[in-house]
Amino acid sequence: MEKITALCKRRGFIYPDSEIYGGYQGFWDYAPLGVELKNNIKREWWKSMVYDREDVVGFDAAIIMNPKVWEKSGHLKAFTDPLVECKKCHKRVRADQRFEIEKHEKEHAGKGSWTEPKTFNLMTEVLLGTTEPKEKAYLRGEITQGVFVNFENVVNSSRVKIPFGIAQIGKAFRNEITPGNFTFRSREFEQMELEYFVRPDEKESKDMFEYWKEERMNWYASLGMNKESLRFRDHEESKKAHYARKATDIEYNTPFGWAELEGIHHRGDFDLKNHGLSYKDPQTGEEFTPWVIETSGGVDRAMLFFLIDAYFEDGERVVLKLNPKIAPCKVAVFPLLANKPELIEKARAIYKILNTEYHCVWDDRGNIGKRYFAQDEIGTPWCVTVDFDTLKDDAVTVRDRDTAKQERVGIDKLNGWFSAKLGDR
Ligand code: ATP
Repeated sequence: MEKITALCKRRGFIYPDSEIYGGYQGFWDYAPLGVELKNNIKREWWKSMVYDREDVVGFDAAIIMNPKVWEKSGHLKAFTDPLVECKKCHKRVRADQRFEIEKHEKEHAGKGSWTEPKTFNLMTEVLLGTTEPKEKAYLRGEITQGVFVNFENVVNSSRVKIPFGIAQIGKAFRNEITPGNFTFRSREFEQMELEYFVRPDEKESKDMFEYWKEERMNWYASLGMNKESLRFRDHEESKKAHYARKATDIEYNTPFGWAELEGIHHRGDFDLKNHGLSYKDPQTGEEFTPWVIETSGGVDRAMLFFLIDAYFEDGERVVLKLNPKIAPCKVAVFPLLANKPELIEKARAIYKILNTEYHCVWDDRGNIGKRYFAQDEIGTPWCVTVDFDTLKDDAVTVRDRDTAKQERVGIDKLNGWFSAKLGDR
């Protein structure tokens, strides 16, 4: 984990938030390469969940909502974690996190003595308005409710018919007791969620639950995540969230153990019923409260796990074998020598053309070997070198990150060569 954290800082993926003031626990800033990787993950998710389907529409709700939403959704009462306090030093830890408890007990060189678990609400409060007393509102603890409260608006203003889904990506905030493991548990993070509405039918909803479990697992694998490091884990009855009839996590095998990447939840009619919303079948006129199958993934966790999964060391070489679709930069363009204007001019022209299609990076520092190393470390799948032969044959050397193989490709064929490798976009 330390290697990933150091790489993220050194090469500009993720920095501690407000670092010059000592950072701020549970908050992170996404640096130039990190924001590209995160955006690519979100774009791939949106493509597979919205653009590639006819039964899903997109949405983007406000972060702050009328506080009544959280009262009705049950979050003000039940969105809690169990908290215990160390009787020796008063450190507070989540009672259900064995790893954190044991880590802390080691610090006291022996078994700790803890207070009885108390429930702790995770909602983050904000104060609004200019006159006292200010109005208390909340930063959303999950992005989900924005979709539910707009359910009837979406049905009435678009052509969706049950079964259909509403997809959303956005920030959520939780007053986590123990933020940690880098971005894994943060206080501000992003979620990518689908709420899929079906008829209130046991079999149909069960089938849909299984369908979405597979779809979501396949999505991670399709973007190169090692299947051996992924598994499903069903929630035990006692640990299920307050809204869930059935819940399964997709977990990833991290350096700190198996950890949740995404939750697939059967929310039944819990939310729509609480908000007093229903659906009228346009053909039959039948009115009912739909049931909901939810897929709820964390963008930051996905990014962290893609990074862990892609990290390889080969002697002194560090390679991020990220799937080209999510790699922050697709192609690096180099002139063989930085002091030959004719090479620079040619390389610049190629860079300009390729950069209109793919996010490219220009590098003319140091020697070619060093440039390859630098690109491998940030996961750039291909490097294009313009050399003296290019001036004669209008071809360049393309070097592959994973195999280190080099191939001569005509400049006029470059675009097609890369788009064939990248597949549909
Ligand atoms: P955990 O058990 O790890 O606290 P959760 O079961 O409460 O997570 P959900 O409410 O199901 O999580 O949220 C859906 C997804 O949002 C999670 O699978 C995770 O990817 C992401 N997520 C939740 N909490 C955090 C957090 N504090 N930091 C980063 N991502 C988070």
